[in-house]
Amino acid sequence: MTQGNPQVEDLTIAFLRKTFREHYFKHHDMVEIPPMIQSREFGYIPFGKGMVRHLSYRSAGELAADLVKQAPSSVFCSNGTYSDPTLPMDEKGWKGAELIFDIDASAIPTSCRSKHSFWNCRSCGKIMRGIERPAECSKCKGADILQLHWSCAECLAATKDHVSRLLKFLTGDFGVPADNIAVYFSGNRGYHLHVDDKRFEGLDPTARAQIAKYVRGTGLVKPHASDQSTLVGWGERLASASNEKPRPDKVADAFGSRIDESVTTDIHRIFRMPGTLHGNSGLLKMRVHDLLSFRPEYDPVVIGDDEVTVTVPGAPEFKLKGKTFGPFSAEEPELPAFAAVYLMTKGLARVAE
Ligand SMILES: [Zn+2]
Ligand SMILES: [Zn+2]
Repeated sequence: MTQGNPQVEDLTIAFLRKTFREHYFKHHDMVEIPPMIQSREFGYIPFGKGMVRHLSYRSAGELAADLVKQAPSSVFCSNGTYSDPTLPMDEKGWKGAELIFDIDASAIPTSCRSKHSFWNCRSCGKIMRGIERPAECSKCKGADILQLHWSCAECLAATKDHVSRLLKFLTGDFGVPADNIAVYFSGNRGYHLHVDDKRFEGLDPTARAQIAKYVRGTGLVKPHASDQSTLVGWGERLASASNEKPRPDKVADAFGSRIDESVTTDIHRIFRMPGTLHGNSGLLKMRVHDLLSFRPEYDPVVIGDDEVTVTVPGAPEFKLKGKTFGPFSAEEPELPAFAAVYLMTKGLARVAE
């Protein structure tokens, strides 16, 4: 945050750390410990500081103790396993990595996008709406303007649809048993799918890129009419398209899943840990057992509702736990802690002076 004086920023960081620490103290059992914990690389981002990586923990207890001690803004764990996860990347000794997919609301073209394309003036807090970045703040004429990544029920529902599409590819086309796929809400605007299937673990980035392209429907070609009776997978999808001459690009839009290809391809990445709080929302990255009934603006709210008075220079409207908050413009509302944390982690609110 660039607004306010340094002391107030420290108070805000202190409030966030205290809130996250209490959460991990009471609920460290929510953190999902990966198999082979000793072979994983861990990392975290402290509030107000840069990423710390190449850590390793020997046990769930050791990790839980560190979460309470550090109270980090975000916690990450590798999908890869290594001989020594604390060494520099090229000396770690990569042994394999689970296949992971990431689908974010911002990657899906929805008509709601223009309604919540917001920009935030970091000098005065003014919120501006528009597809293009404004050259200057309409209020203070400042040029330090940040894009706000906002979402709504419509794009969150569209994201779920793309998770369903991905599940069909994984279970149908790739034959992964449904029980071996874990679906997680990311804690912000998307979903992560972790695939536990030995066939994928040793694949290099090139092979993973082919899987990612297949799922997205990149580079589909029209099948010959004579082939269609025996086609499976995309061939079947192309053939099932209602018109006689299906256009591959249209079929890719209708059936493809808009995963982030770079995430699936990266075998050395560390991912937000399931069961930890998202540093840009305070919501939980949580396992989704039933996609249809999962409520992304309700179920991941795990921080309490004690009222906190905050200073909000500007914030668009948002919904959490069935309540609508904002929009705010130079106000000092009393908010339940989960809503205060939501705005503070996005740099839109601070502890009231
Ligand atoms: Zn301004
Ligand atoms: Zn939306």
